[in-house]
Amino acid sequence: MDFPSEVCTTVFYGGCNFRCPWCHNADLVLRPFTLPEISPDEVLNLLSRRRSWVQAVCITGGEPTLAPGLEEFILSLKSCGFKVKLDTNGTQPEVLARLLAGGLLDYVAMDVKAPPEKYNLLTGTRADLEAVRESIALIKNSRVAYEFRTTVVPGLLLEEDFLAIGRLLRGARRYVLQQYRPAGTLLDGNFRDILPYPGATLNNIAQKLQPFFANVEIRI
Ligand code: SF4
Repeated sequence: MDFPSEVCTTVFYGGCNFRCPWCHNADLVLRPFTLPEISPDEVLNLLSRRRSWVQAVCITGGEPTLAPGLEEFILSLKSCGFKVKLDTNGTQPEVLARLLAGGLLDYVAMDVKAPPEKYNLLTGTRADLEAVRESIALIKNSRVAYEFRTTVVPGLLLEEDFLAIGRLLRGARRYVLQQYRPAGTLLDGNFRDILPYPGATLNNIAQKLQPFFANVEIRI
């Protein structure tokens, strides 16, 4: 799931500049200092012992592009021969541009949280939409494999919102609708009781989005 077609290890970076209310990683986002810290050397040591069957590393968060030392860590992974996937919310296009220009990424998954007019609501912040748009353009114009993806949050996102996201991302190669799962430590506990949309609703949204993308998927 974390890296299509590869056996991968996932590395979580603490800290994030969004506050998506349904986020499962409240500790990672709000209290990363309460979690055990693992140094890049420890990760590289562990990966070198598993090199024969792990081909790829997914770097996720939190928001990894906020972390100092990310580029150096990815360089170390690449020099050991690992493929690297980056999960990002797209708010640091200058970091993304550097990583793409350096040939350091093999796959990018960018969360597109909402249509532009709902970004603040879905992210719990005053989101920098210019940065988000810039990252979208960088990814679409790059040669790396990529996906844009949206968690289908019932009540906050309606069918017409997905059509607006389709217009925002029009022409992208791959778009993934992620089923809402109120698991883990949620940022806003009220979201625990919200039921996911039924599969038929996701299918219906996916159908309507077909004209915008080469490939639309549903991830349950
Ligand atoms: S879901 Fe939102 S708050 Fe949670 S890590 Fe991703 S961008 Fe940050």
